[in-house]
Amino acid sequence: MKKLMLLCLLNILLISCSVKKDKSGEEVITYSNIEKHIDELADDKYKGRAPMSDTEEAVVSYITQQMKEMGLEAANNGQFTQDVPILSVTSQISDYLTFSTPEGNLKFQKITEYVTFSRKMEEEMELDGSEVVFAGFGIVAPEFGRNDYNGLDVKGKTVLVFVNDPGYGTDSPYFKGNTMTYYGRWTYKFEEAARQGAKACIIVHETGQAGYPWQVVRNNGETAKFYLQPEDGYKDRCLFEGWITKSSAEQLFKACGLTFDEAKGLALKKAFRPFQLPAKASAWMKNEFTTGTSKNVCGLVKGKDKPDEVVVFTAHWDHLGVGARIDGDSIYNGATDNASAVSWMLEIARAFATSEPLSRSVLFLAVTAEESGLLGSEYYVKNPFFPMNKTVACINTDVILFLGEFKDITLTGFGQSELDQWVEQEAIKQGKYIAPDPNPENGMYFRSDQFPFVKVGVPAIFGKGYIDAKALGKEKTLEAIASYWKNVYHKPCDEYVSERDNLAGLVQDAKLMYNVGNNLANSNEWPSWNESSEFKGIRDQSLKERQ
Ligand SMILES: [Zn+2]
Repeated sequence: MKKLMLLCLLNILLISCSVKKDKSGEEVITYSNIEKHIDELADDKYKGRAPMSDTEEAVVSYITQQMKEMGLEAANNGQFTQDVPILSVTSQISDYLTFSTPEGNLKFQKITEYVTFSRKMEEEMELDGSEVVFAGFGIVAPEFGRNDYNGLDVKGKTVLVFVNDPGYGTDSPYFKGNTMTYYGRWTYKFEEAARQGAKACIIVHETGQAGYPWQVVRNNGETAKFYLQPEDGYKDRCLFEGWITKSSAEQLFKACGLTFDEAKGLALKKAFRPFQLPAKASAWMKNEFTTGTSKNVCGLVKGKDKPDEVVVFTAHWDHLGVGARIDGDSIYNGATDNASAVSWMLEIARAFATSEPLSRSVLFLAVTAEESGLLGSEYYVKNPFFPMNKTVACINTDVILFLGEFKDITLTGFGQSELDQWVEQEAIKQGKYIAPDPNPENGMYFRSDQFPFVKVGVPAIFGKGYIDAKALGKEKTLEAIASYWKNVYHKPCDEYVSERDNLAGLVQDAKLMYNVGNNLANSNEWPSWNESSEFKGIRDQSLKERQ
């Protein structure tokens, strides 16, 4: 007992030392602090951290308390939280999506062959013999000389499109070869179809191009979906958004007089023109709505010289909550996803809170509802504390694996902006190399919380040690990664076990990104997008408006 008390005393002494201002920020970041947060946030008592669940308050309060104790300022008008108003929609869909064709009626069964959903705030909606247009990849991208809606009015019609973009699976310079552009994301397909005035947008599912099997699509059928609460009831969106299986699409094309491969071949052509298929679509949907509020947690270190300019760190606190039981466990703890990055960010924040005064401000956002479609970060970007053209950069991470030290820093979105060099400069000091995302066709740059920033032009990085763990070597690491995505990701076994897991890499990542953030916060520079980036134009325009 005495020994324990002595240890405690020692600990207190150590802790009080660590908040002294003369320590370098990097030294403040410790294994034990990071482990403490992960152990806490991945604990069963938080029941998988689902937004708006009965544990949200406890999760938010833990993060808030940590930010307060380390001396961050409340970032939102004296508050450490930002309310995020959420709309929940549950759609019941018709048993069949029916296409009348010259070959007769084709009926595709719900969930197994088709899924639709809608965010439009209407309770009952119907497709009643809606004309069907084949719109290739559904892309309007002037910089690639492509317009899949060229010359055809699709107002009130149903558009059928392929997922991903024409560069998929190639090393052609058309689009970005195998690296998915935002035009390849399913979210984009629905946005563009809505801009064109289509009534429905149905995406043809292909496992490779989508990045996941039909199973993932069907698991989302008729489940509650979260969106940000709209001001206008989402009246500009399509009535029906959805997917059909590849084999359904094969049958539909065939009944319309062309094979799937012929349709794909046409879509791959630069000069693709959309055309009407001799088919009409029918289905119905019933929507139920509820609303609620979740919270982003936000702390700030204010800059001295240019407090109105900001560098933003983001990490989502939410995970999937309690779900289907697998191997006797129904709590989806989300230790790697994303207790890991919240812990990473909290200790980076502590390092900033104890370092010398900064020139620019640094904001720390633990955002909610990432798993439901990046809602917390999107809400912040629409309701920010600093304008986007005063936001220098966003540094995000997600899913840091507990494989010990890494030799690499893998950058998702590598090649997009000058931030690559800002990271490389610090990576070299740790003896690390920069690696691009090993699966750029999956479009991960558009699938975590940096993306809402990116979409409005703020350069962002999503970086972590990933492909080359020191203890495993590269080949074994890639096997470990594959096994993670297959067996652990979004499953109840995503837990933290101190005897098994090694956080040394995560600690190094935190130090590295602290240094990158610190360099940005003490600089006058505005890192820019590379010429080839699809987001450069947006940023240029936005910075122009600042002057
Ligand atoms: Zn995540």
